[in-house]
Formats: sequence, C-alpha cells, structure tokens
Amino acid sequence: LPVVVIAGRPNVGKSTLFNRLVGRRQAIVSDTPGVTRDRKEGEALLRGKRVRLIDTAGLEEAAPDTLFGRMRASSESAVSIADLVLFCIDARAGVTPADAHFAAWLRKQNKPVLLVANKAEGAVATAEALEAYSLGLGSPLALSAEHGEGIAHLMGEIADRLPEGPGRRRARGDDEEEERPAGPLRLAIVGRPNAGKSTLLNRLLGEERMITGPEPGLTRDSISVLLQDEHGPIQLVDTAGLRRKARIEESLEKMSVSASIEALKMAEVVVLTLDATLGVHEQDLQIARLVEREGRACVLALNKWDAVEDRTATRNAISYRIENSLAQMRGIPVVAFSALTGAGVNKLLPTVRKAYEVWNSRVTTGELNRWFEEALERHAPPLVDGKRLKLRYMTQAKSRPPTFILFGTRAEMLPDAYRRYLVNGLRETFHLPGTPIRLQTRGTR
Ligand code: GDP
Repeated sequence: LPVVVIAGRPNVGKSTLFNRLVGRRQAIVSDTPGVTRDRKEGEALLRGKRVRLIDTAGLEEAAPDTLFGRMRASSESAVSIADLVLFCIDARAGVTPADAHFAAWLRKQNKPVLLVANKAEGAVATAEALEAYSLGLGSPLALSAEHGEGIAHLMGEIADRLPEGPGRRRARGDDEEEERPAGPLRLAIVGRPNAGKSTLLNRLLGEERMITGPEPGLTRDSISVLLQDEHGPIQLVDTAGLRRKARIEESLEKMSVSASIEALKMAEVVVLTLDATLGVHEQDLQIARLVEREGRACVLALNKWDAVEDRTATRNAISYRIENSLAQMRGIPVVAFSALTGAGVNKLLPTVRKAYEVWNSRVTTGELNRWFEEALERHAPPLVDGKRLKLRYMTQAKSRPPTFILFGTRAEMLPDAYRRYLVNGLRETFHLPGTPIRLQTRGTR
C-alpha cells in the first residue's frame, strides 16, 4: 500500500486529522502537546484508493533532545518510507520557528509534500495563508480536521498524488499538470500584416484534419477553428483577426498589434510569424513583448523560407535579434517553413505541443532548492544598502507560465541583474525555453 505520513510539530492537530482520514477514533486527542504516545498507523480509503496512514505524533516525546530534535527523530524513519508527507501546521498560530525549521529539513528529503493548514475553520486570513507559502512547500491546503471542513478535498488531493494502482491508468503527465484544463490546446497565430498568417492557416487547414469549420469564436468578430493532430484537438483562436485588413484611418502597425492582443488573451500557445525575408521588425518585437507580458508560450515561425537565400545566416540573425531584445525569449523554439509551398510546415504543430508542455511544467521543491543553493554559492546574492541579501528558498507557485516565489530577508529588494541570473539559471537547469518565467519575491524575517 502507498504510505502517507502525517508530520508536523506537536499540537497542530495531526491525530485529529489522522482520525478523520481513517474514519475511526483511534488516538487519544487533547489540547496538551504530546498526549498520544505511540506511533499510530491505520488504513484509509481515499477516493477508492487504499493507503497506509502513519501519524508521527506519538514519537514526539521519545528522544530527550530539543523539540526539533524530537520531531525530527520521530519523523525521520516514517518520512523515509513515505510516498507522500502531509505536513501539518496550525493556521491559527501561523508559521512558528519550529514549523519553519522542520519544513527546511523536509524540503531536503525529496518526498512529495502536501502542506496542510489545519484549524482553519471558517475563513483563514490571507496573511496566514501567505505566510504558509513561506515554508517553500507549495500552496497550503486549508482545512479543519476537527470540524471536518476541507477533508473531502484533502482526500482527493492525496489520491491524486499517489501512484496509480494496477488496472487504472493515468492520462499522460497527469500527475504534474493538475492545473491543466481539459479541452483543446488553444493556439493563436500572430504577426505583422503580410507575414503569411492567412496562408499558414489555410495550409494547416489543408493538411490537418479539420473537426469543425470556421465558427463564431469568443469575441464578436473572431472565428475559431478546431483541428486535430495525432495528439488531440487544437483550437485556432481568433483567426478572423488575421483576415481583418486595416482601415485607412487606422495605421497598419496599430492594427496588427491590437489584433494580436485579442488573440493572445485567448491563447495558450502563440505562433509569432515573421516574414523571414524581411528580418526582425520593431513591431515583431512589440508583439513578442506582449506575449511575454501575457505569459504565453511562444514559438517563432520563420515564414517564406522558400524565398530566403542564406538560410543559416538568416536564422542566426533573427534568433540573435529576438533573444537579445527580449531576455524571456531565450532559447525560444524556431520553426522555418514555407506556408506557400508547405515545405517544413509539418514541424510546426509538434513544436507547439512541446512549447505547451514546457509552459505547463512543474519543478519539485526538492530539485528547485538543490539548484537554488548551488546558484547562491556560485554567485553570492548582492549587497543592498551595504548589507547582503539573505535569500532562503524557492517554491513553484504555479505553472502556465512557470511561476516561482523566492523567499528571503528583504527579498523584495532583489536587484534586476541578480533576478536575471536566477531566471536564466531556472530556464537552463529545468529546460524552460521559450516560456516566460515569473519570479516573485516575498520578504521574510
Ligand atoms: P497575413 O497578412 O499575415 O495573413 O499574410 P498573407 O497570408 O495574406 O500573405 C501575404 C503575402 O505573402 C501573400 O502574397 C502570400 O502569397 C505571401 N506568402 C505567404 N506565405 C509565403 C511563403 O511561405 N513564401 C512566399 N514566397 N510567399 C508567401
């Protein structure tokens, strides 16, 4: 059976939670720390999955050391066999030094951890919830073990994180893409007028199986088309924006940028289409900046490749210009093709799929902080007002796009150069090319 271990400092409600999950009153529960003396084990049925549940509460008094020493000793053996650790804190007390200490140890154990903020009956204050983020163990799950609030949700979250038993197979990548909505990948083709967007669209419609024809899209005059490749459906959003031609009083520039904004808002992945014979225009960069700002995955399409003479030089010059103008576009996937002849267009959708995966990816807190410690060693954090910044740890708050939170004393003062160093490191180490990476900072004391 998969093993789920409940860990945390004394008196946060581990035994109550254990009882809730097991469904029987097995442990003695009281408000006095350390009342339960034995390690409790039981079996629980969570969303049809049987698990072995271990409550580490009983071992807290075992070793005559410091509080943290006892917690750690009691948890060490249990955590070592865990498939999932429920790390419990008391939402009413907030994050205590003992919690932080224990969390720091737990982050190094390289085990999946679910952060549980117990005693959160009624509404938990946002301040406490934010504070719990500072543990670097992901988003806290607020619940009340005593009142039974949030328990069903917790059971589902636990079940989702456990390995699938035989007979039931998980969809590809399901375990790490919990935020990914069902439904087709939403793709937008953007670019300046005459880059060849309409030609590309027609080419795609001609070569891939079209599920539905053009039909009204999300905004009044947008149109979306549903395609199918071998991995599933792809929805091309706002294709009408491609066909709209500029009115005389509206400059071409303004039009292509505003049409791009609409399409971007609806899309998950954006194909930024350039006329490769013309190189990179300021307006292309402007659209790329929008992609970055909206946090979309991006693929760079070099169209009219049939008309390009020195292909290597052209490709290098364009990538160089894009990557140097926009830090977040480093490593952006590039596909060169001719929409007119169709040569090379078949590489586009596979590249789009890959960019989508990157955009959805998640880094475990363990991996992240191992890298982070190395990164701090390689380049010490900078001095700000004569004092060195104390950066402590990182956590990935979400994907789509990958978003990280950096905690530390005065972390919000992080200078841009160091921020870029960290973002570039994240991009290279965790293979996140062509996706905007968000790095937020939170000051801790
Ligand atoms: P849009 O404004 O971005 O939708 O651009 P269009 O698809 O209308 O294309 C603009 C012009 O470029 C048309 O004359 C197309 O025939 C031409 N064009 C599009 N793709 C290619 C290509 O791959 N190679 C060449 N040589 N011309 C192309």
